[in-house]
Amino acid sequence: MIVAGFIDEEEINKAIEDSAEPSEETVEKALEKAARAEGLSLNEAAALLSTENAEMEERIFSAAREVKKKIYGSRLVLFAPLYLSNYCANNCLYCGFRRDNTELKRKCLNTDEIRSEVGALLDSGHKRLLLVAGEHPAFSNIDYLENAINTVYSVRRGNSEIRRVNVNAAPMGVEDFRRLKQAGIGTYQLFQETYHLETYKRMHTSGPKADYFKRLEAIDAAMAAGIDDIGIGALFGLYDYKFEALSLLAHARHMEEKHDGVGPHTISVPRIEPALNAPAAAKPPSPVSDEEFKRIVAVLRLAVPYTGIILSTREGAEMRNEVFSLGVSQISGGSRTNPGGYSENKRRTDPYGGAVEPGSRTNPGGYAENNRNPLDEAQFALNDNRTLEELVKDVCGLGFLPSFCTSCYRSSRTGDRFMKLAKTGEIQKFCLPNAILTFQEYLEDYASPELKEIGGKVIAREMQNIPDPKRREAALLKLKEVKEGKRDRYF
Ligand code: SAM
Ligand code: SF4
Repeated sequence: MIVAGFIDEEEINKAIEDSAEPSEETVEKALEKAARAEGLSLNEAAALLSTENAEMEERIFSAAREVKKKIYGSRLVLFAPLYLSNYCANNCLYCGFRRDNTELKRKCLNTDEIRSEVGALLDSGHKRLLLVAGEHPAFSNIDYLENAINTVYSVRRGNSEIRRVNVNAAPMGVEDFRRLKQAGIGTYQLFQETYHLETYKRMHTSGPKADYFKRLEAIDAAMAAGIDDIGIGALFGLYDYKFEALSLLAHARHMEEKHDGVGPHTISVPRIEPALNAPAAAKPPSPVSDEEFKRIVAVLRLAVPYTGIILSTREGAEMRNEVFSLGVSQISGGSRTNPGGYSENKRRTDPYGGAVEPGSRTNPGGYAENNRNPLDEAQFALNDNRTLEELVKDVCGLGFLPSFCTSCYRSSRTGDRFMKLAKTGEIQKFCLPNAILTFQEYLEDYASPELKEIGGKVIAREMQNIPDPKRREAALLKLKEVKEGKRDRYF
C-alpha cells in the first residue's frame, strides 16, 4: 500500500524483509559510506538496524560515535520544554492530555503565568525553550500561541532573556504557520507519532489529529509558509521500531527532494512513557528495548549525519548518558510536563518567592529541587529528575560541552544556509566557540562554585579544540568580555 506519496509502506517493508539477515559485506559497505558522513539509503539503514552480529553492532556504535564527534564535537545543546496548556480535543491513546481523560486537572497558562514560568526557567539558566500545547480550538489557537511567544521573548531577568523559542503544537494552515514564523520561532516540531497508517488510526480515534494525511502533509505546509527549521519525530513503542526509523528517513528524503535539499533540522526520538489514563502508555503495543533504542539513535546518526537528534527527559539518566555519544545533539533538562510546573516548584523551594536576580540564588537551579511530578496535570512521567545544574555537571563529567547557543537562528543561519554550512563542515567555525561562550555565561550567572571549577576546565580544554588560531584568538577575546560581565557574545 502506498501512503501519501512519500511513505511507501511496501518499499519500507521490503527494505526490512530484504535485510532480515544482512551479510557482513552489506553491513561493511554501509558502514564505509556512513563513516564518510554521506548518509544512508533506506536499504543500508535497514541492514544496520537488523544485523544481530555482535561484532557488527559494536562497529555500528563506534561509527556513530565517530560521526557524532566529527560533526558535533563534544557539544550538547540544552533546552527546556514549556507546557502552555493541557486542554486537548484529541484522544491519542498514549497521552495523558487526551480529551477522554476526565481525571486530568486542565490548565491553560495566562500571560502572567507564562511570564512566571519563563522567569523560573531563566533563573535556572535556560536560554532556549520549546513551547508545547495540547490541540484545542479555544485554548491553543494561533492568537494564543502568538501571544505566548511574544510574552516569552519579553521577559527579562537581570541581563538574561530567552533567545530562541521553538514550538511543538498541532498542525495549522499556511496563513497561521506564517504568523508563527513572524512571531520569531526557531524550529517548528511535529511528530507523526507512527507512520504506520493502520496503527495511526487505532491510536487516534477522534479529533482533528485522527487525520493521518493532514498531519503528514503539515510539515510541507509549514515549509511553504517560510518555516525552514523543521523537527520531525516518531513516538517509539506504537509500531515496529524499524518501520518507524526507516519512515523518518523516508520523510527526511521527501523534505530534501521537495524543498531544495533542506531536510529536517532535528529528529526527535521519544519512547512512550506512563501517562494517566492512557491505555497505550500503560501497555505500549510494540515496546522498544534499551538495546534497540541505542541502535535506533546510532543508525539515525549515520543515516542523516547533519540532522540534530533530540532526546527528552523521557529517558532515564543512564540511557541518556549512553546515547549522548551515539548521536544525540540536543537534550532537555530540569523539565516539567505540567503547565505551571516550573513556577509551582519554585514557589515551594525558593526562599525569595521567585523575585530573584540571576546569580543571587542560594540554590542555583533550585526551582526543580522538589521533584514532584504530578501525573494528574502532566502529559507523561519523567524518568530523569536531575536539575539543570546536576545535568550540566553530569554532562561535563562525561566529557561533553554543554551549550546554550542560539546564534544560528539569530544570524539567519537557517534552512538551506544552515544545511550548506553543516555539509561543508563550516558550521564548526560557529558552533564550538558559541558553545564555549554561552557555557561561560551560564557558569558566571548560575553555577555553584563547584560547577564553576568543573566547567572552567571543560572550557579550557575545548578552547584548544578550535582549529583555526585566528578564530581561537577571537573566541578568547569574547570569552574575556563574558567573564567581565558582557553578555550575548557570539559568532
Ligand atoms: N498536541 C500536539 C501534538 O500532539 O502534536 C503537540 C504537543 S504533544 C504534547 C507533544 C508530543 O508528546 C507528541 O507528539 C507525542 O509524541 C508526545 N507524547 C504524548 N504522549 C506521550 C507519552 N505517554 N510518552 C512520551 N511521549 C508522549
Ligand atoms: Fe493532545 Fe498532543 Fe496529547 Fe494527542 S499527543 S492527546 S494531540 S496533547
